[in-house]
Amino acid sequence: MFSIIVPVYNEEENIPELCRRLTSVMEALCAVATGSPDRYEVILVDDGSRDQTWPLIEEFHRKDKRIKGVSFSRNFGHHIAITAGLDHAKGQTIVLMDGDLQDRPEEIPGLWQRLQEGYDLIYGIRKVKKDTIAKRLNSFLFWWFLNRFSGVAIPRDQTLLRIFDRKILEVLTSMRERSRFIHGMMAWTGFRIALHEVEHAPRARGVSKYNMIKLFRLAFNAITSFSTFPLRLATYLGLMSSGVGFFYALYFVYKKIFMDIPVPGFASTIVAVMVMGGVQLLMLGIIGEYLGRVYQEVQARPIYVLKEQLLD
Ligand code: UDP
Ligand code: MG
Repeated sequence: MFSIIVPVYNEEENIPELCRRLTSVMEALCAVATGSPDRYEVILVDDGSRDQTWPLIEEFHRKDKRIKGVSFSRNFGHHIAITAGLDHAKGQTIVLMDGDLQDRPEEIPGLWQRLQEGYDLIYGIRKVKKDTIAKRLNSFLFWWFLNRFSGVAIPRDQTLLRIFDRKILEVLTSMRERSRFIHGMMAWTGFRIALHEVEHAPRARGVSKYNMIKLFRLAFNAITSFSTFPLRLATYLGLMSSGVGFFYALYFVYKKIFMDIPVPGFASTIVAVMVMGGVQLLMLGIIGEYLGRVYQEVQARPIYVLKEQLLD
């Protein structure tokens, strides 16, 4: 009936509390929703952890078969771990959440209640943000750009915590692109969505498993998989600079012919060369970014490699 998907990477300190809280919440919810406290599964996706995360998952699975797990052969990344969870989920109603207890299991019944009002997907939206000013500005620009240019409406301030119907899972699992940005992919599927405010806790234990490089990669994935606007930028910049160049040239011809003022050239030449050289390299880089992604898609490697599974 319910599948709860949790990506975990080096979260040994959080797994015991996560399993305990999820079990008590889900037993109560399932008893109300289905009449039996056992009709749920928790799929912990171990994204190549190097600590005791997997042995802990094995131990919990031995004691409680409702807690399941798959593990990757190495670290593939948050959104790919979510994908693996979606691929293995059997439930009719799916819940996604992070494994560091920032998404609180106690919010699941509230989300489920909203889902019953006739929606297909309920996003958990954080009301209070506990981020620094710099991170907030970053995320504001990121979401603004995506919403402006991606052609899909991606609700802002969403947490990973969300609940949705199996039909959205079917669409998501049929999307096999390699650069995966789950928030965009879910917005792309459409259907009837609603937002639900949730409490967003500070990370329970340990440190963030995202570093600058991973964040940048995610932002690039997000933009390139949902917008081709950066590619069109070349056209706009080219049109603009040739327009400016054309009128500038006219102006110099006029000065020379009608006013007989000589045209000194050094500074303006250097500026033009530098600016145009920069713009051309930038555009080459952007094209390269898309080309690299096309190359990876053409290679058609599997998105992830499983090491172990505990799904029975
Ligand atoms: N995570 C993952 N693979 C990664 C990085 C993170 O599976 O390469 C998991 C992590 O264990 C956590 C969730 O993704 O359950 C969110 O990561 P984190 O809390 O570190 O990110 P933040 O909340 O700081 O953005
Ligand atoms: Mg977190």
